[in-house]
Amino acid sequence: PPVQQPPKIHRLQESVVNRIAAGEVIQRPVSAVKELVENSLDAHSTSINVVVKDGGLKLIQVSDDGHGIRPEDLPILCERHTTSKLSTYEDLQSIKTMGFRGEALASMTHVAHVTVTTITEGQLHGYRVSYRDGAMENQPKACAAVKGTQIMVENLFYNMIARRKTLQNSSDDYSKIVDLLSRFAIHYTNVGFSCRKHGATRPDVHSVATSSRLDSIKSVYGVSVARNLISIEVSDDDPSSSIFKMDGFMSNSNYMAKKTTMVLFINDRLVDCSALKRALEIVYAATLPKASKPFLYISIVLPPEHVDVNVHPTKREVSLLNQEIIIEKIQSTVELKLRNSNEARMFEEQV
Ligand code: ADP
Ligand code: MG
Repeated sequence: PPVQQPPKIHRLQESVVNRIAAGEVIQRPVSAVKELVENSLDAHSTSINVVVKDGGLKLIQVSDDGHGIRPEDLPILCERHTTSKLSTYEDLQSIKTMGFRGEALASMTHVAHVTVTTITEGQLHGYRVSYRDGAMENQPKACAAVKGTQIMVENLFYNMIARRKTLQNSSDDYSKIVDLLSRFAIHYTNVGFSCRKHGATRPDVHSVATSSRLDSIKSVYGVSVARNLISIEVSDDDPSSSIFKMDGFMSNSNYMAKKTTMVLFINDRLVDCSALKRALEIVYAATLPKASKPFLYISIVLPPEHVDVNVHPTKREVSLLNQEIIIEKIQSTVELKLRNSNEARMFEEQV
């Protein structure tokens, strides 16, 4: 039989490489919102406001009152791998900022139209400039601006037909964005957050800076959640506190829900940990007679060198040293509190 010739290998065009990579970093509108809000937090903002049109496909606008961007940095702002946060690889070990790889803004310009308006402290006016495919579309224009930075992302996935189609048919992107902002709002209590649909007068998330944790949970998740919470912590006199510290709130035995809400921050990063979630769901299922799912807000602090933040491009999953010990300890703390709460409830029902 005739030998088949192997297909010829060629180098992909840079624009193709960039768009494919960008589609991995920015998977959905909510991924863009997360990156933008994290940038605003990294810029020490105390107020972050989000406006969304058409589930984020038409417009995502994030405005903050942070330190702004230097005018001379604007030409490279949206190039891949340009950042103010990391210099050497070793810096990753102790990185405090949420961003570090300089890829988010660049990615957005490869799959959307991005416009940045920014002003730094002491300047008389700000600058506005638009980007496409990593580069400025025009020279920055002087403009009036209030403190901070506003980033507009328009026509997301305009050049990824299949992605746009699948997202257009799903209506839940706005609720994913509201969910994300709710989580940030209850952790960063020194920052005021708002999130609303374009044209709406009422925001769907609204939190005030400097409120207590419980107050912000109340304003974001409602009184019915806030009044059924117990505070939890692993304290300093606990032997486990040498490897980690934890504090948070957990729902008591009166709380009723069909779905688990677990808001988890590790070293101030919003992350997922399905193993911890499962471990705590088991406690609730085993302790409470009715199959109610828990509400949990948990903040864990670890030595930075015990967390690998660089395992996933979206940084959503992290790896922890001593993960099993940490999960067991949190599980037993939650179990004890929940038992006490349940016994108190059963006692009240008897009298
Ligand atoms: P990274 O956050 O990993 O550095 P990004 O692409 O998200 O990469 O942002 C690139 C750079 O742009 C940041 O390092 C930061 O200096 C600047 N930047 C982005 N957003 C803001 C903002 N809202 N306020 C101030 N600076 C910002
Ligand atoms: Mg970033």
